[in-house]
Amino acid sequence: MIAYLDNSATTRQYDEVTDLMAHIAKNTYGNPSSLHALGFEAEKTVKTGRQQVAGAIGCSPDEVFFTSCGTESDDTVILGCAGPSGRPRPNRKRIISTQVEHPAVLEPLNELERRGFEVVRLKVDGNCRIDLEELKNALTEDTILISVMTVNNETGAIMPIEEIGRIKAEYNKAHGTSILLHTDAVQAFGKIKIDMKGNFRDVDLMSLSCHKFHGPKGVGVLYVRKGTKQPPFMLGGGQERGFRSGTENVPGIAGTGLAAEMSVKDLDRKREWIAALRDLLRDRIVSEIPDVRINSPENGVCSVLNVSFLKTRGEVLLHTLEQQGVFVSTGSACSSNHSSKKGSHVLNAMGLKPAEIEGALRFSLSEFTTREEIDHAFATLKSAVETFRKLGSFR
Ligand code: PLP
Repeated sequence: MIAYLDNSATTRQYDEVTDLMAHIAKNTYGNPSSLHALGFEAEKTVKTGRQQVAGAIGCSPDEVFFTSCGTESDDTVILGCAGPSGRPRPNRKRIISTQVEHPAVLEPLNELERRGFEVVRLKVDGNCRIDLEELKNALTEDTILISVMTVNNETGAIMPIEEIGRIKAEYNKAHGTSILLHTDAVQAFGKIKIDMKGNFRDVDLMSLSCHKFHGPKGVGVLYVRKGTKQPPFMLGGGQERGFRSGTENVPGIAGTGLAAEMSVKDLDRKREWIAALRDLLRDRIVSEIPDVRINSPENGVCSVLNVSFLKTRGEVLLHTLEQQGVFVSTGSACSSNHSSKKGSHVLNAMGLKPAEIEGALRFSLSEFTTREEIDHAFATLKSAVETFRKLGSFR
């Protein structure tokens, strides 16, 4: 039996999405920029995908831009905020983010720091929470951008985006500044409600990645609020209204639109289901496996459970579980072991001890997760931890 509990790394595509993409690839193969009927069909397909994504996040279709992945959406925003010269200017030099962002944000921030920008990385506490007072104190009139992820990919902590938006809007009003708020919502879409006119009304820029919500790999979304100045990242033929050149991934965009629509359908019911399974796994771990630390906060996203099994090594457990068809992660599988040398940068920022970091595993669920998968995963995990501790093979 297989228990796929690595949905934060990537999700299984909806069958309906796969069927639609195959149909489009076979039949709607025109270039959306071509002036003939096949081109027009492809253009219509892209338009439908854009409308579906817009409908899923409550914005206007002309605020939705397609990219090649979540990383490209993040890079576009972070590197783009440096302006045409790519260098800091006296009134535009500060960027505020957190210590626990994904490398898709952290690495372009490091690059801007090398170019002389001032990067403030807000700390987190043992529950992966930022302190809004620290954010308020960090705001200055030369701040360009605040970039805070909506949901942390390793712990599932939900960041207070609505409050951050309010703080930014109040600061801009009081100081006549135009600081922008970007959020990497790659791990949030399809798990928490995102409404660009509601709880996300003060978010100016948002990144999504379609393979995280049962859509295809190789498609990202960048939401850009109307009126926001955001320079293009890729120059060329002027596709995506000049914002992101490159021939559109028509089947991928069609699949993304459908996946977005399907992900937000019955969201409350799905969330309850996923949370119930996550709680079941957590409660069984806590009651039946000694010496563990739960690293995901109580009020975290429904789909993520990060646990440290003391006196073990997460990586060894992962491979033991894999032999029984249980697929989990030690952290951010989607970042090519970015954190592997010193251990997870997120758990480090939370103040965990090296032994706690070494024994950490992330279980991530989706709407496809079943009770049987949780039962199989737990039984395998319990035995793997016991065996490991008995043999003392971690040193
Ligand atoms: N941001 C977060 C929070 C992620 O978890 C990931 C991937 O896991 C990314 C960005 C990168 O997305 P992509 O794989 O589409 O480049």
